[in-house]
Amino acid sequence: MKKIIVIPGDGIGKEITGSAVAVLKKIDEKFKIGLEFDYRDAGGASYDKYGEPLTAETLDACKAADAILFGAVGGPKWDNIEVSKRPEKALFGLRKGLGLYGNLRPVKIYDALIDGSPLKPEIVRGADILIVRELVGGIYFGERCESETVDGVERAWDTEIYSVPEIERIVKLAFESARKRRKKVTSVDKANVLASSRLWRRVVNETAKDYPDVTLNSMYVDNCAAQLAINPTQFDVIVTSNMFGDILSDEFAAIGGSLGLLPSASLGEGTTGFYEQIAGSAPDIAGKGVANPIGEILSAAMLLRYSLNEEKAAQTIEAAIDKTLADGYRTGDIYKDGLKKCSTAEITQAIVDRI
Ligand code: NAD
Repeated sequence: MKKIIVIPGDGIGKEITGSAVAVLKKIDEKFKIGLEFDYRDAGGASYDKYGEPLTAETLDACKAADAILFGAVGGPKWDNIEVSKRPEKALFGLRKGLGLYGNLRPVKIYDALIDGSPLKPEIVRGADILIVRELVGGIYFGERCESETVDGVERAWDTEIYSVPEIERIVKLAFESARKRRKKVTSVDKANVLASSRLWRRVVNETAKDYPDVTLNSMYVDNCAAQLAINPTQFDVIVTSNMFGDILSDEFAAIGGSLGLLPSASLGEGTTGFYEQIAGSAPDIAGKGVANPIGEILSAAMLLRYSLNEEKAAQTIEAAIDKTLADGYRTGDIYKDGLKKCSTAEITQAIVDRI
């Protein structure tokens, strides 16, 4: 049996994880993987029950599982509680507790949704990119100074530090991921200015020797930001540091259209992978049955691909989503006149029917 911890969380989390589990159950019927689901609380839902956004028991259950399917946490109900008890703390606790150092965000432009992209169709058609972002190092975690005065002038500083093992493990993750895709890695840095980027580039070039079947190029981050808007189809896998990845992944998300379409995976030292759609808990539409579940269902496909090594099952889900969109099914966030406007449950059923 493969144990999956399902953490619906708050807001639309219950609705979208419900959809992803329905799809996984259909996949299990077809591929006989032997999936077992164990439901746990986190975020505001956990705070309301146990007074903590993430209990030690839930974290232990997650560590022992094969994978975690996570919805979203947070909402206005918990906006004014003590900072250490805020729903978002559950996410940090899980990332830290599971040692999740790599964040994978695929962005694919569906032909059926091409008008939803802010880029021209002829530029964006066929774009299908995976960004691999380092998640626990670099300038967000380096030593910093909020304020000091030197020669009568106030200043502040942050430090970007990367060690060889930290770079190696994320770069390996990118090369391994590329082997499951179109076998091309673009490493993004600022090696013309930063020492940490020069080390990054050296380690990337060394690591590449173990992956002769994968093509590698390096690109400066400023050029990458421009290339994404000019020629996004040149990219397959992009690997980069924590801060560059943070900025570029939002640029990527924007070219994809709706927030509700985008999945993510966080992978780490242990064997447990963590999968969630990239948006928040959408309190404005929670409980109305209208949330777009596609980002979460695609997260379930990533779970099959990266944690259970079930590539065929993952592709089956992705193909079912392609077909559902091509057949005109749309939730409100991506709806256009003349198409079939659906609830969360209706579009989920349409996807399940196409598996
Ligand atoms: P949000 O991402 O929840 O929503 C932004 C907008 O996108 C809203 O209008 C929402 O209705 C829409 N949207 C999001 N997902 C959608 C979907 N699947 N289908 C259709 N529409 C969708 O961002 P927000 O409103 O700034 O944050 C709401 C709460 O979520 C906050 O408490 C925030 O802290 C939390 N949050 C959680 C996570 C997480 O759990 N990983 C991430 C970001 C924000």
